[in-house]
Amino acid sequence: MLSLFSLCPSPSSVWSLWRRGMAKSFILNTGAAIPSIGLGTWQISPGVVEDAIRAALQAGYRHIDCSPRYGNQKELKSANVEETIRWGIQMVHSVLPKSANEARIKENISILGWSIPEDLMAKLSEIKQAMGEASRPHQATTICARISGTNEPKPQPLLPCPAHTFVDSHFRSKLFISSTLLSFFLPILCLEMARSFLLNTGARIPSLGLGTWQIEHGAVTDAIYAAVKAGYRHIDSAVAYRNQKEVGLALKKLFEDGVVKRDDLFITSKLWPGNHAPEDVMEDIATSLKDLQLDYLDLYLIHGPIRIKKGTMFIPENLIPTDIPATWRAMEKLYYSGKARAIGVSNFSSKKLEDLLAVAHVPPAVNQVECHPVWQQDKLRKLCHSTGVHLSAYSPLGSPGSPGYSGPSILSNPIVISIAEELQKTPAQVALRWGLQMGQSVLPKSANETRIKENFDIFDWSIPDDLMAKFSLIKQACVRLLKIEFAIHPQSGYNTLDDLWDGEVDTGSKRTEPEDHSDFLRCFS
Ligand code: NAP
Repeated sequence: MLSLFSLCPSPSSVWSLWRRGMAKSFILNTGAAIPSIGLGTWQISPGVVEDAIRAALQAGYRHIDCSPRYGNQKELKSANVEETIRWGIQMVHSVLPKSANEARIKENISILGWSIPEDLMAKLSEIKQAMGEASRPHQATTICARISGTNEPKPQPLLPCPAHTFVDSHFRSKLFISSTLLSFFLPILCLEMARSFLLNTGARIPSLGLGTWQIEHGAVTDAIYAAVKAGYRHIDSAVAYRNQKEVGLALKKLFEDGVVKRDDLFITSKLWPGNHAPEDVMEDIATSLKDLQLDYLDLYLIHGPIRIKKGTMFIPENLIPTDIPATWRAMEKLYYSGKARAIGVSNFSSKKLEDLLAVAHVPPAVNQVECHPVWQQDKLRKLCHSTGVHLSAYSPLGSPGSPGYSGPSILSNPIVISIAEELQKTPAQVALRWGLQMGQSVLPKSANETRIKENFDIFDWSIPDDLMAKFSLIKQACVRLLKIEFAIHPQSGYNTLDDLWDGEVDTGSKRTEPEDHSDFLRCFS
């Protein structure tokens, strides 16, 4: 029997490493997280498996892969680890190195606190792929089904297994690699992850979208055309941005010119605050679909927990209290109808999101909120991770130039600038790439073709762990750029900013929006 406990690092040290790394877990379409490294138990004999698992748990593993076919599940039960075996595969691929050897168990988990420089990464592409044919298909079926995340196990050829680590790549090549090579592959997989994230609907949301708020009518068609040509596949729009018709013209032209097909794009729009009444929700999406010249939206969001009287202007005097559960029922009908392939919310605090999750039949797929290095939303992000709601980051560059804002500057933050200089990227690229590595999609707005391209150039490099750690040193501004202070009004149901944001705002901080809100509200009316 193994006697491993004395030599294992403390769980807290492993978890602190884990926290620093981007690859600690991935989100499943159930909403749960799968730890990115798990212990494989195939071929660990019944007499050894219990101690191996105990040692792995002590070392920080939180994912154990097992199967009745491995002939050792009874011992897993006695090691009390069944609750850890509930996570599956998503986004990229978790890795399941098997080892019953103490030193290797520790070696295999020490991959999370460092990364491989790009020049060495390039060498990995030279490794010959696909090595051999099946010999024991029943075992391969079990393993591949787990790794590919499919519900139905599909027979797959078993590859020769000279070592104890298996990775099924996104690119459908099957590799058996040694535990040493595991550490080389993980960053590649993480780069791939950054292109899109899986929603709890099973659809993917492209991780970078073009924001369209405040792009002038005359410029939005060209901006979208340029963005899609540059590679963007996600457009964030809203009836409130007053330019959806022009967005629709751009989409039509892109389809007619054969640049992309409808299915290639992910289009988001949002419910106008005057159409929260359940009977108005269907009409609201119909208006957006007509303007956008589309049959369906990929994502439709309640724009915020803010409501105005139907048919009125977006000014404080027209605010009325929300009834989110009733509005959500109507949103669910849209989802069932197929008009909206995913539904979600925007500007919801952790509490408001939890309240909605408690009554929703269809859980929200997305919460689109302000998020950037100076307003990192740690609490909300953790909630989103644990509940399977994807966090989509608006104002990821801090919305420089927005009317009335005098909030924190992201692009001139000294830490962001120093990281950008070290990586030879721009501060905007670093802010966006930080968002991707935190697991959120980012929605930068630009009407400028050069900056549109610059903002897209964030996929073939990454921020190493030591520089990622520096983002946690950035003083959190304690002020949202977008506090929506005008919503604090006797008729809105919100008497204080705390009512609106449920504590996720510093009410004592300096105002960031002007007293009369008129410049800001003009953006919506
Ligand atoms: P943002 O994307 O953080 O910043 C946009 C500003 O940054 C623009 O002034 C843009 O100017 C500039 N910019 C873009 N790329 C740049 C670069 N590489 N270097 C320097 N400056 C750059 O702010 P946002 O528009 O507030 O947010 C983005 C999108 O999120 C919106 O357009 C909208 O789609 C969404 N949003 C949603 C909500 C909501 O309530 N759900 C609220 C706010 C925003 P140029 O155009 O001149 O490049």
